[in-house]
Amino acid sequence: MSAPLRLMAVHAHPDDESSKGAATMARYVREGAEVLVCTLTGGERGSVLNPKMDRPEIVANIGEVRRAEMARAREILGVEQRFLGFVDSGLPESEEEELPEGCFALHKLEDAAAPLVAAVREFRPHVIITYDDDGGYPHPDHIMTNKVSVEAFEAAGDPDRYPGAGDPWQPLKLYYQMGFTKERFEALHEAMTERGLGSPYSDWIARWEDRPAKWPVTTRVPCGDYFEIRDEALLAHATQVDPDGFWFVCPRELQQEIWPTEDYHLARSLVDTELPEDDLFAGIHADEVEPACH
Ligand SMILES: [Zn+2]
Repeated sequence: MSAPLRLMAVHAHPDDESSKGAATMARYVREGAEVLVCTLTGGERGSVLNPKMDRPEIVANIGEVRRAEMARAREILGVEQRFLGFVDSGLPESEEEELPEGCFALHKLEDAAAPLVAAVREFRPHVIITYDDDGGYPHPDHIMTNKVSVEAFEAAGDPDRYPGAGDPWQPLKLYYQMGFTKERFEALHEAMTERGLGSPYSDWIARWEDRPAKWPVTTRVPCGDYFEIRDEALLAHATQVDPDGFWFVCPRELQQEIWPTEDYHLARSLVDTELPEDDLFAGIHADEVEPACH
């Protein structure tokens, strides 16, 4: 019997795992992989984005409420999940606004990456998913999440680095998740317009700069059958996700027809693989990479 393949997804806040790569995780879990979500911060500074949940008792206990939401989403997706203990930096309203003292994004890289290095050495993922170096969107915690993920990918296998954080383990592939591509939103926009459903994406697409993607998509994981699970997990984050809002404007059936994949950029690989890929584990065989004995 070969050991299961292991996938780690690194995220900044509770709810990010459900909006970025959730259907991919749901699929791999149901195919027998072990999947661990590492959530770097507790999302304490997130505002309530769903008007139906904007109530004083919820705002007063937002940290606790978001933990409960995360627990529910974790169950729906079928993944394991842990918080790595940092405090949300909040989304500054202007470039001049200073980040709050002690928040995740202000930590020295080595301090910010240490818990993730320890988690990598303990869980021993073959593949890690994270954001690109722009953070997917410019939230300081998302940009920091990219940095600590790259650091952990590079350092976790090196016995001289992060001593005391567990036995070295070298993950084999690192991906940036690429859900927000112009190509995808244009395809959905066109399909919605053709079918007489008003598309909410036109302004957004128009503002998108016409330049080649910095991180081209290398890997499209078919997971349309899992979009329903993704949507349920998203809805579990009730303070962050408005059921009548952005995430749900495009009918699920249309997404399944027009764009039934979640997309990634292969940022690092220590195995041979042929691009484009349709599987994050392409080129990896667990029984070959597992140490002979424990
Ligand atoms: Zn986030």
